[in-house]
Amino acid sequence: MIAKSIEKMLSENQEHFLIPAEMVANVQENNFLDHALLVLTKVRYAKIPVLDNDYKFKGLLSLSMITETMLGLDELDVSRLHEIYVKDVMETDMPTIQDPYDIENVLHLLVDHPFLSVVSNDGSFTGIVTRRELMKSLNHIAHEFEKDYTVQAIETKEEK
Ligand code: AMP
Repeated sequence: MIAKSIEKMLSENQEHFLIPAEMVANVQENNFLDHALLVLTKVRYAKIPVLDNDYKFKGLLSLSMITETMLGLDELDVSRLHEIYVKDVMETDMPTIQDPYDIENVLHLLVDHPFLSVVSNDGSFTGIVTRRELMKSLNHIAHEFEKDYTVQAIETKEEK
C-alpha cells in the first residue's frame, strides 16, 4: 500500500500525466513496415502505439521489431518491409491501464515500462501515461508535500 496522502496528491494531479491520444504518434496495424519505419524515424520515439481504423488500441511497435525483420544472414534486406504488416510484428502482451488509474499499479508498471497506454472499456485508445510526466508530478509533490501535511519523524531505537 502506498501512503494515502501521496496517493491523494497523485490522484489530484492525474489529468496532468495523461498525454491525450491526439498528441501521441501512432501507426496503424495495417500499415506496411516501410511506412512504420518512416514514422518511427521521424517522431524519434523508440516505441509507439499501434491502432486500428477505429482508433482501438492493438499493440506497440518499436524500431528494433522492424530491424529484426530485415536481418538476413549477412546483410539487411530492406525489400521485405513492403511485404510485412505492422500487425505481423507488433508486441501485444504489454500491460494497459484504464482511466481513472489505480495509482499504485501505475507506479509499479512504470518501473519496467517507459510508458503505459490508456485504453477504455471498449478498447478505444485515450492516450499514454509516461514515466516523464509521472516524475514531474512526483517532483511537484516532493516540493509541496509539507505545505499540505505535517510530517512527524518516528524516533528509531538508537535515537531514544
Ligand atoms: P518519456 O517518459 O517522455 O521519455 O517517454 C517515454 C516513452 O513514451 C517514449 O520513449 C515513447 O516511446 C513514448 N512517448 C512519449 N511521448 C510520446 C508521444 N507524444 N507519441 C508517441 N509516443 C510517445
